[in-house]
Amino acid sequence: MQTTRLRGAPLAERIRADVADRVDALRERGVVPTLGTVIASDDPADERFLELKHEACAALGIATRDRRFDPASTADHLARAVASLSADHEVHAVFVQAPLPEGVDATTVRERVAPAKDVDCFHPATLGRLVAGDPRFVPATTAAVCGLLDFYDVATTGADVTVVGRSPVIGLPLANRLAQKPGAGEADDAAGFDGPDGTAGSDGTDGPDGPGDATVTVCHSGTADLAAKTRGADVVVTAAGVPGLVDGEMVAAGATVVDVSATRVAADTERGYAVVGDVDADTVEGRAGALTPVPGGVGPVTIAALLKNVVRATERRAAVE
Ligand code: NAP
Repeated sequence: MQTTRLRGAPLAERIRADVADRVDALRERGVVPTLGTVIASDDPADERFLELKHEACAALGIATRDRRFDPASTADHLARAVASLSADHEVHAVFVQAPLPEGVDATTVRERVAPAKDVDCFHPATLGRLVAGDPRFVPATTAAVCGLLDFYDVATTGADVTVVGRSPVIGLPLANRLAQKPGAGEADDAAGFDGPDGTAGSDGTDGPDGPGDATVTVCHSGTADLAAKTRGADVVVTAAGVPGLVDGEMVAAGATVVDVSATRVAADTERGYAVVGDVDADTVEGRAGALTPVPGGVGPVTIAALLKNVVRATERRAAVE
């Protein structure tokens, strides 16, 4: 069987073109969309993930405020930084780069993100609204996976979907979104600019449609027989950060496999490393119907989806001011 590669670039380009138009329109009104970011990691991979977001913002005219902290920082320290960006009138969106340092109480930090600026659903209340089917924003990775499924016409209605990973950043919001009615829209206090009915789809293109109505199984490190759960799925989405976790024998013939993970491993390359997903692409190739590449699959769409949420947050504020 020929395995189709679901590349992220065509969808990412489409989203970025839309974002560019919307940034231009805001700038013409004297509004400069601004994203504030917080990171407390000195892991080069985390730093690079954030750098890519800053570069993407700069390319489209979105301003950034960069708050970097030592991994030894306390929760209070980080919470104050997040609170300060949340209170800054010139900042429209706040993003905290995961992971937070070990030992830092994440809730202390999460609760300081102003919900109206919480473009990646970091605040428990914003995540709760998503789970309740009334999202203020769809987090970027969830939007990217749903967007790719939609863009490549992978039907989820009635499908069995297995999500590997249950983190509050990726696995949980994604699993919830896929299990919901398609187009459970984003509530918008100033409805009218996102979609025809004031909602925004999860697919990276505005509108009420998008993947959903799936029967979702969520797996984690305590799952007894992971292979049985992935083999029984029409769509497997993996976000464990464990290279080689999913191989060809764990995937049904013709299934769609979406690999969210991006892990640096030592490699004989110019940079000394390669970025790999959870999927053993060599054995999945020829068995799966479709597979997202790593790199070049979910990642570029996630960045574009984040920019879109920044613009959306800016438009919402501009509409009420
Ligand atoms: P995380 O917080 O470490 O969560 C990993 C999840 O995978 C946990 O739920 C964990 O289970 C589960 N898991 C780990 N080993 C497993 C195993 N052997 N079998 C089954 N489940 C297992 O990571 P994250 O923040 O969700 O990120 C996941 C990956 O996505 C990372 O590689 C990250 O770099 C990548 N990422 C990609 C994007 C993108 O846009 N492409 C964006 C952000 C992050 P437990 O809950 O039991 O520990």
